Amino acid sequence: MSSSRRLFFALPLPDALQQQVIRWRADAFTPEAGRPVAAANLHLTLAFLGDVTPQKALALTRLAGRIVQPGFSLRLDDLGHWPRPGVVWLGTRRAPRGLLQLAELLRSQAARSGCYQSPMPFHPHITLLRAATQPVAIPPATPGWTFSVEAFSLYQSVFENGRTRYHPLEQWPLAQQETR
Ligand code: ATP
Ligand code: MG
Repeated sequence: MSSSRRLFFALPLPDALQQQVIRWRADAFTPEAGRPVAAANLHLTLAFLGDVTPQKALALTRLAGRIVQPGFSLRLDDLGHWPRPGVVWLGTRRAPRGLLQLAELLRSQAARSGCYQSPMPFHPHITLLRAATQPVAIPPATPGWTFSVEAFSLYQSVFENGRTRYHPLEQWPLAQQETR
């Protein structure tokens, strides 16, 4: 259907962290390693919905709006390379329970609404480089950034003028963290 949109739920990175990550990335990888993802496009996908009709999008946003979950801290202390999709990623060695629960809920709601979900286990990651299909020297460590996740968002993925952009459509707060 022509009015379908390509949508996904994701965690945005705070602006200051986006800048820290891209500054670090410029030193950490050679230009041949892969194509850097634009700072504004750095995100952690929770659930990919694919092309969805306006009706389905409305149903899924209503369900998302009813989610009551506490926020959590996310430590970005892991790095890896998936040569087949050509992705170099930033991740976490210990995914917080809140992150796994949120992704699981959004993914099961998506599946129940008929959005195909990959059977691969959820591996939370932020794509740093694309087209990284050759061997890449992965730095032994990241600076170990930690940030507080207080909301999740719905994005539309749009391919225009030769590049993919994500437009934030809606954002929902997570409850105040219980412990810190
Ligand atoms: P492009 O595909 O245009 O090169 P992209 O992969 O960033 O760029 P999308 O394909 O629209 O853009 O994907 C949006 C987000 O959803 C990305 O984080 C992507 O990794 C993720 N994603 C895309 N397809 C799937 C899928 N089949 N299963 C899980 N996540 C996916
Ligand atoms: Mg893609």
